[in-house]
Amino acid sequence: MTQNLLDVRGVTRRFDGLTAVDQIDLSIAAGQLVSVIGPNGAGKSTLFNLITGLDRPDGGSVQFDGRDVTGVQPDALAALGLARTFQHGRVFGNLSVLDNVLVGAHSRLRATRAGWPVIGAIAELARALIGPASLRREDEALRAEVREIIAGFGERLLPRLEQPAHSLSYANRRRVEIARALALHPRLLLLDEPTAGMNESETAEMLVLIQQLKERGLTILLIEHKLDMVMQLSDRVIVLDNGKKIAEGLPRDVRNDPRVIEAYLGHRNVGGASSESISARRTELQEERP
Ligand code: ADP
Ligand code: MG
Repeated sequence: MTQNLLDVRGVTRRFDGLTAVDQIDLSIAAGQLVSVIGPNGAGKSTLFNLITGLDRPDGGSVQFDGRDVTGVQPDALAALGLARTFQHGRVFGNLSVLDNVLVGAHSRLRATRAGWPVIGAIAELARALIGPASLRREDEALRAEVREIIAGFGERLLPRLEQPAHSLSYANRRRVEIARALALHPRLLLLDEPTAGMNESETAEMLVLIQQLKERGLTILLIEHKLDMVMQLSDRVIVLDNGKKIAEGLPRDVRNDPRVIEAYLGHRNVGGASSESISARRTELQEERP
């Protein structure tokens, strides 16, 4: 039996009278890219919070690599290889691009050592005694690695290594956030609307980047509103509406599912989308139908 990297079973989260996430199952095998789509307020980000330990489910379980991690803290999950980005990008504004990504690399080292706290403490002491030269070597190695990760974002980030993150464009801040997540060497990367606020060419670039990550074998769980992107990237698509899973399957099957079309094109708007983008989406859906 092949074991999934992530197995979410019957996960539920209630806020007062609202069931934001209602008994959701979600599995992802190593190397897959699974997308979660659905109208604004469907429960996508809450589901991510439950998977990444930012929030605790009221019911159900989360298994990562065969281990029950329900309610485990984000730091511990990151140490196991689970990294995420946020819908409203989170970077350290006063830190340079390089330092932002170094934070990811350092978290990884800390996490590795934290697994053996006593040995970790001894190692820290040994490091201090051995002296700054070896520390510098380690730091240089990390910086080299981080530069390489940033180089994956090409001219967007490389010329800005020393600039504070707050001086970057919105799209570049989101790139920095992804670079930081990659510096954790994740086994599973969760991206919450990585192209939100990006224009068409920035979105196209992000698509290429995610495609490359996928080709390198990274397992990815993606929340995304831009359907053409979802259709191109996903091995499987899960559709949420009002906290419930209303469809799951291959991209083309999900796109043609009447419940999905209703959720997207019915009375409710998608992600605060304008009527223009709704009608563009309707055209897109219809054009792509076989
Ligand atoms: P999506 O990411 O699909 O747009 P969310 O997961 O952000 O949706 O939200 C799902 C529902 O849960 C929404 O109705 C939202 O208002 C509600 N919600 C999310 N977080 C909280 C919270 N911390 N407290 C109360 N309600 C919340
Ligand atoms: Mg969201």
